Amino acid sequence: QQGSIEVICGPMFSGKTEELLRRLRRAQIAKLKVEIFKPSTDTRYDPTAVVSHDLNSIQSTPVETSSSILLLGGHTQVVGIDEAQFFDDELPNVCEALANKGVRVIVAGLDMDFSGKPFGPIPKLMAIAEFITKITAVCMACGAPASRSYRLIKSSETVLLGEKESYEPRCRICFNLDK
Ligand code: ADP
Ligand code: MG
Ligand code: ZN
Repeated sequence: QQGSIEVICGPMFSGKTEELLRRLRRAQIAKLKVEIFKPSTDTRYDPTAVVSHDLNSIQSTPVETSSSILLLGGHTQVVGIDEAQFFDDELPNVCEALANKGVRVIVAGLDMDFSGKPFGPIPKLMAIAEFITKITAVCMACGAPASRSYRLIKSSETVLLGEKESYEPRCRICFNLDK
């Protein structure tokens, strides 16, 4: 098989994990060897499972650095990576190396942080990907399609876990309301 990179991005609650799991399940149905990775810092629901907000899940391998994905994912046909924004800057190179070896790499992650800035390695991944799927959530302030993750509590840290109470998806207008 020819390798490729697919990026699934959008704000929190937009269904990135859902879409990642849907693609990986179909690959499993096709009897392809599938391996899923997530950053070990992301233990919100479960230390090893990748879990979507509707509580669908699939077992994953938590890794500290993106280079571990290259070591562990090189012998499989499909590699899924969730919460990719939390990985180091080597992630695009890792995905590129896997795709060059013939692996189908599917990456899900936030395209923007809480301040609306491009998030970590995702922009570079979008540049080198063959396929990009940008999805929206529902704006919690007005009901329009939401492209951004609005932080409800005051903190300037880029990474702040415990998402449900700390963030809500918002459209561009409502994101900029009290700024
Ligand atoms: P992500 O990985 O992008 O954070 P998930 O795949 O984990 O998203 O969850 C998507 C699910 O979250 C939706 O199918 C829906 O059931 C639920 N959900 C809760 N709040 C919202 C919202 N404001 N907009 C869209 N979906 C929401
Ligand atoms: Mg998710
Ligand atoms: Zn809105």
